[in-house]
Amino acid sequence: MSRVTRLVAQHLAADSPSTGASVADLAPVVDGVDLDRPASDLDAALSEVTDVYLRDAIWFHHPSYVAHLNCPVALPAVLAEGIIAAVNTSVDTWDQSAGGTLVEQRLVRWTAGRIGLDEDTADGVFTSGGTQSNLQGLLLARGEAARRTGSTDLTRMRVLATEHSHFSVIKSARIMGLHPSAVIPVPTGATGGMSLVALRTQLEAIRERGEIAMAVVATAGTTDLGVIDPLPGIADLAAEYGAWLHVDAAYGGGLLLSLRRRHLLDGIERADSVTVDFHKTFFQPVSSSAIIVRDAVTLAHVTHHADYLNPRTAVTPNQVDKSLQTTRRFDALKLWMTLRVTGADAVGEMFDEVIDRAHQMWEVLVDDARFEVAAEPMLSTVLLRYRPEGVSAAEADSLNPLIRQALLDRGDVMVAGTVIDGRAWLKFTLLNPDTSLEHLRGILETIAATGDQLLPALRDAALRDGAGAPPQGPDVLDELRLPFETLAARAPQGTGAGVTR
Ligand SMILES: *Cc1c(COP(=O)(O)O)cnc(C)c1O
Repeated sequence: MSRVTRLVAQHLAADSPSTGASVADLAPVVDGVDLDRPASDLDAALSEVTDVYLRDAIWFHHPSYVAHLNCPVALPAVLAEGIIAAVNTSVDTWDQSAGGTLVEQRLVRWTAGRIGLDEDTADGVFTSGGTQSNLQGLLLARGEAARRTGSTDLTRMRVLATEHSHFSVIKSARIMGLHPSAVIPVPTGATGGMSLVALRTQLEAIRERGEIAMAVVATAGTTDLGVIDPLPGIADLAAEYGAWLHVDAAYGGGLLLSLRRRHLLDGIERADSVTVDFHKTFFQPVSSSAIIVRDAVTLAHVTHHADYLNPRTAVTPNQVDKSLQTTRRFDALKLWMTLRVTGADAVGEMFDEVIDRAHQMWEVLVDDARFEVAAEPMLSTVLLRYRPEGVSAAEADSLNPLIRQALLDRGDVMVAGTVIDGRAWLKFTLLNPDTSLEHLRGILETIAATGDQLLPALRDAALRDGAGAPPQGPDVLDELRLPFETLAARAPQGTGAGVTR
């Protein structure tokens, strides 16, 4: 363990979040290992692990990693990982976990309390992630809709969510055998959240068509824009139309610990089920997530009794009765250790700090004419695009994904990308309290320099490939996503900021 600690520490000190290694670089190294014959000793195996993985790993704790919803991890949780793996508890039944079951149940009740549910009647279970939590929330909704209406006709079940809801909502509907068009996209309003007027219209239409409004999914922190849907209004409508309210707080859940912004989640206490991803805004190592439900009884929709595991007559608490999984990691210990060592307030403050930083960065961007910036962030994501004077909107749609790819190829800065309303954006997801505004300014300058370097080659390619008109829309992005080397080679010599791989 101490050798591994030293090895990881050495790599944690890396001066960039990635080496930019490609599949072509790494696949032969991985394939070159003879799995039928062990390495000569532990040192040889560790050196091999360095070659196949560690050296080129993606380091989420690096201040220049601002891409996806990944967090640097709380160290007490890393220590807990050591305990979890060594003891190898499975929390499915009491006779495999003992105190582990009680620790998990205590944390579920604690989370329910933070949400504002009654701890005595609420319940839930840890899951592998927001995807599983969302699936389980919708499964319970389906069970309740069937119970309430007396109908098990899946073709009539409808789920309402905005188009910014997580793709696991649609995936869940598919897994559950719902109609392909069962998830109805509710338009968003001026603030970017679900429009209440549109939600009512859709609920009415569902009623008129004789369909069943199985669930309304409100997102507390959309993956792209960090928008929190208007929870109190949605709760009113869900109640009025008898629909289950699932709140996907995979991202915004960290606000449950915020001392300054908890009010942004007001209304979450009216949910029937809530997804919280501890491995996002509670700074936990993957995986750590939970589904929390208002009424413990509803979890019976996923209960099955087996004589060999959890007989109906069992007098001890068996978490498997509430879970989609059977053998299951004792992930709860990581959160427990974090709360006992770091403390809930400190975790909340870390999330508040990255939200502060997102606001500061947004202000910097508003004043910088070279960039376009999306709406002021609610949480910790900032969407921007490099569009200096003289660059058309369509050119910017081509340029920004190329900038992103060039940065990924070099590995010194990692940003994400997305498309909103047909326009290409770069996305910064801030989850590292150690990423300062100065770091972010530096990343912006790197983006600008890379954009300036790529622009002549992009224009050259556009001219060569067609009518000379700038490429239009996201469809052509793939075509233009040429290897950075090719574009850099096409760039006139002596221009740009000397971008090198
Ligand atoms: C990340 C995310 C999910 C999925 O969670 P996983 O832990 O990746 O499975 C669901 N919903 C939202 C809003 C998310 O941001």
